[in-house]
Amino acid sequence: MTPSYRYLFFLGKPASGKGTQIRLLLERFEGRTFSTGDALKDHIARGTPLGKKVKEVINAGKLVSDDIVMDLFRDAAEHLQTPVGQALFLVDGFPRTIGQYELLKSYLAEKGVSHLFLYFTVEDTLVLRRLSGRLVCNGCFAPFTAGRDNAEEGGTCPQCRKGVLVRRSDDNETAIQKRLAEYRSLTEPMIERIAAEEQERFFEIDGARTAGVIFEELIQMKPFADLQKRRN
Ligand code: ADP
Repeated sequence: MTPSYRYLFFLGKPASGKGTQIRLLLERFEGRTFSTGDALKDHIARGTPLGKKVKEVINAGKLVSDDIVMDLFRDAAEHLQTPVGQALFLVDGFPRTIGQYELLKSYLAEKGVSHLFLYFTVEDTLVLRRLSGRLVCNGCFAPFTAGRDNAEEGGTCPQCRKGVLVRRSDDNETAIQKRLAEYRSLTEPMIERIAAEEQERFFEIDGARTAGVIFEELIQMKPFADLQKRRN
């Protein structure tokens, strides 16, 4: 089999557990990850022209434009190093609108890459509960829950051991409500479209369960069967 990446797109509300599963999958399998949210926040942290342009939009919980995120995704996909064998490219937070899905579809068809969509479902009440305890690393952006896995606000990141765990500036009540409203009006219609069009490439996962249970279910799925395990 020619070495290549299988693209997995993680869909779902904020705090539906996408980031956690991505972290677990990368501990087990060869692969790379890309998050549009993290890439945008990195631009903000570095004070780039793009970062200055999107800062207010993100802190208000609104979505940035389709062209911006498509450019970020394309750039990440085109800078992937050739994998050793079959590997995963795990994409978090993209696509989020019908416009982004249309742009992505043309790109995937042009490149002929194999891909799937994983949709994590959770109720708003659980999102609010999870976000109130969410911490993220200010270096590698890995997500944690306060009080679990040695994670505490101001503590060192258990994953990269360099960054500090902080609350996100857009994890405040007003921005969270706005993100959920954007999700309902822009992302949900896109998910319905993907479910109808992609059928055998679309998987729905109940994100309300614990991370370990979800992970065990995920790795039993067919797309993971022929993947290379990480050699540590
Ligand atoms: P969450 O999923 O927890 O809301 P992310 O870290 O994925 O947060 O994204 C943070 C913010 O970055 C979003 O609220 C939005 O403003 C912006 N963003 C990320 N991905 C996209 C996207 N695909 N389209 C538009 N805006 C995006």
